Amino acid sequence: MFASEDRAHAHASHRPDLTRVLRDGVTVHTDEELRAKHGIVVAFSERTGGVSRAPYADLNLAAHVGDDPVAVDANRHRLLASLGMALRADRLVTAEQVHGERVGVIDEAAAGSGAHVSAAGAQPVPGTDALITTTSGIPLLMCFADCVPIVLVALTPVSGIAVVHAGWRGALASLPGSAVAELANHAGCEPSDVIAYVGPHIGACCYEVDEALVSHFGNKFDTIGAVRGRLDLAAAVRESLARAGVPSSSIAELGECTREHTDRYFSYRAAQQTGRHGALAAITEGE
Ligand SMILES: [Zn+2]
Repeated sequence: MFASEDRAHAHASHRPDLTRVLRDGVTVHTDEELRAKHGIVVAFSERTGGVSRAPYADLNLAAHVGDDPVAVDANRHRLLASLGMALRADRLVTAEQVHGERVGVIDEAAAGSGAHVSAAGAQPVPGTDALITTTSGIPLLMCFADCVPIVLVALTPVSGIAVVHAGWRGALASLPGSAVAELANHAGCEPSDVIAYVGPHIGACCYEVDEALVSHFGNKFDTIGAVRGRLDLAAAVRESLARAGVPSSSIAELGECTREHTDRYFSYRAAQQTGRHGALAAITEGE
């Protein structure tokens, strides 16, 4: 009796945190306590530890950038294996990311969409920049090189996860906030119960854009400063999450700039022909 009450209480909240972990040659930023207590995997990958060759070296996870499909599949398998999810490789879901505003809800029937690049199988989810599921054992993966990766987690009454790809278009359209609302709807919780992780992306330090774009953001977001020609995507993402109801104490930010760390991350601004690192989430409880 007490045990189940404790468990119910433990599911009510979690303070998100990211730790850099190297396992089986693959480096990820992950929340180990979330996995231990709630059975939910959150991981932002680095570019080392894979098999791809230049300009995609090493751990390129994206199918569309011109890399060898066999290498991409091997890299995805390495990432999943390092997270103890090699047996879920056939259920991996990826998306055709288009800098749009669509949120895709993934159920059992969609498991494995875009899982493999070099072998026949279901295609990636078309035209979608946010994936949501409440189904256990379906890893969701999105790919990045400078854009902002966001993972959202709902813990109760049912577990739910979302992976969001926010470049400037997605950030300006408040896609992160839309994903919070949709996830809360599917998990049956309040948006204020959703916790969020923001992975590596290009920082305002390096993200030079034209001033018209900065002023578009300034008109929409209170926290976008008037720094000439530079855009702080993370500020827009934070404000989008906050407006959707996510408390600032429920957001863990990695705070690393991809453009400045090309030894560990892919950066489109640094090299347009390059690979993609990943943001991955999975529900493993009940397995
Ligand atoms: Zn920078």
